[in-house]
Amino acid sequence: MDSRGKTEIVVQGIAASKGIAYGQVFLYLQSELEVPRYTVDPDKRMAEIARFEQALVTTRQQIAQVQQQVKRNLSEEEALIFDAHQMVLEDQALIGETIREFETSGLNIETCFNAVATRYIEAFAQIDDEYLRERAADIKDVTRRVLHVLLGQSAQNLSELVEKRIIIAVDVSPSEAASIDRSAALGIVTDGGSRTSHAVIVARSLKIPAVVGARDLTAKVQNGDWVVLDGYEGIVIVNPTQATLFRYGKIQEEKKTFENRLLAAVDQPAETLDGVRVTLRANIEKTDEVGLVKQYRGEGVGLYRTEFLFLNSHRVPDEEKQYEAYRTIVEGLAPAAVTIRTLDIGGDKPLPGDPHLIGPEANPFLGFRAIRMCLENPELFKNQLRAILRASAHGKVELMYPMISGAEELERANALLDEARAELRTRGQKYDEKMRVGTMIEIPSAALSADVLAEKCDFFSLGTNDLIQYLLAIDRGNNRIAHLYDPTHPAVLRVIKQVVDEAKAKKIKVSVCGEMAGDPIYAPLLLGLGIDELSMTPPLLPAVKFLIRNTKFSDAKKLAAEALKQTDPRKTYALIEAFYNERVKE
Ligand code: PEP
Ligand code: MG
Repeated sequence: MDSRGKTEIVVQGIAASKGIAYGQVFLYLQSELEVPRYTVDPDKRMAEIARFEQALVTTRQQIAQVQQQVKRNLSEEEALIFDAHQMVLEDQALIGETIREFETSGLNIETCFNAVATRYIEAFAQIDDEYLRERAADIKDVTRRVLHVLLGQSAQNLSELVEKRIIIAVDVSPSEAASIDRSAALGIVTDGGSRTSHAVIVARSLKIPAVVGARDLTAKVQNGDWVVLDGYEGIVIVNPTQATLFRYGKIQEEKKTFENRLLAAVDQPAETLDGVRVTLRANIEKTDEVGLVKQYRGEGVGLYRTEFLFLNSHRVPDEEKQYEAYRTIVEGLAPAAVTIRTLDIGGDKPLPGDPHLIGPEANPFLGFRAIRMCLENPELFKNQLRAILRASAHGKVELMYPMISGAEELERANALLDEARAELRTRGQKYDEKMRVGTMIEIPSAALSADVLAEKCDFFSLGTNDLIQYLLAIDRGNNRIAHLYDPTHPAVLRVIKQVVDEAKAKKIKVSVCGEMAGDPIYAPLLLGLGIDELSMTPPLLPAVKFLIRNTKFSDAKKLAAEALKQTDPRKTYALIEAFYNERVKE
């Protein structure tokens, strides 16, 4: 029981944005819209269609307004999501089907639009693909808006929130997230959603905790209830007891002290206790992350995932648009190097604006992805290569190919790069003649061809996310087998070691840019295996640096040698965990 006599309830969800908050609940329940159903007189049918068209125009204007608001509050890239909403409103299939439904049924346009949109939403929601499922959320969001306009009601929004509260909602749509009053939200919890949902993006940008997947939490709380929100562990505690509050008070203090310790070292070099310097760089996806890279002192960018520029636009960006984006990053971080990875589309990331370029596949992760698609579409690929080369005239650029499976692909990609260089020379446009070109090692066949690949490029970057997925045959996005996805599997360590040895023999550098690089527990192991550079999402840099500064390289080497002898991944994990705990007291 808490001090008000209510029973404490603990709900486990998924941690989505770090931090701890304590406060009262703002329960955000969107009531189901009631759509009236009636028959329209035949002589009023033209007017009914005009009413529909007018509602689409009004909704478009509303969305444009929200988009402006988000651009101001968040960023240009976040605002791009509303382009997708505008596209729903321009979707001729959806509009045409609504009008056909209206002409055949004679029912009011709200009913027809709602029925057609619901069919679309259900169809998208069933697709086994996160990106396409998100489209269902877009259609749902837009449908509500159109219905509100048709019914003459103003849409509910989270701007009612004025006092500092923890928002608990079934789900928060992108436009609702945009209307959150930033000074009043202490944290966000949703019954549904995923780590990539828009509410989470907003929470992270506000640096407030968030938990998703809290199942039916909305049914268990009331407005004004007190809750503790633990964004580290994904836990929500309703009506916390004094003992819980005391525990969380202590956790909060400890986290704060630990974070301050990490940040205190942010300006120190990433150097081991026995003087070995490690390069720590950042992974980014958007141009506006340059500030974050600087804030956390990333030594440039080790992986810029260019596909997000493509995913966020609804058509393939042309050379000029790409050049501008790349140049912004390169100039923003000069003289530090920026490693620009060519398009890694396909797999779980379909190419927007041109669904036929990739099309549905039975095994998208083993399919027409990344460099494979680029080599088959040389003009699209060369557009990007020229844009990257042109950006190289403005700072230090490195180019990197994803999903190379062997020497022949690397040769073909390099031949197209030569063509792109020649085209720029003809145009009289500048580029850096000495731009280094690297290969990601993320397919087992590439790892086993490392000796040959090392002859044909300037550096390697291990994409452990995919490398582990393909080595162990574990779909990296499948929750059911997530426990089998193990970076300490002996095969993974052996392959990393082999790639490093081949690279060292050919005197080229090897970095790691998969998620493994950003987890401080793996850092000593990777260093001990001979990795020169780690690249990770910027806020993780201080924790990895802290560990490096508290580790002796000679000990890391011993740790790696010991780990390579293990046959049981759990024992390896225990070894590296003990190594970590000896050096870090959180
Ligand atoms: C990887 O596979 O480890 C990687 C860094 O690339 P992505 O996660 O973008 O596939
Ligand atoms: Mg990859």
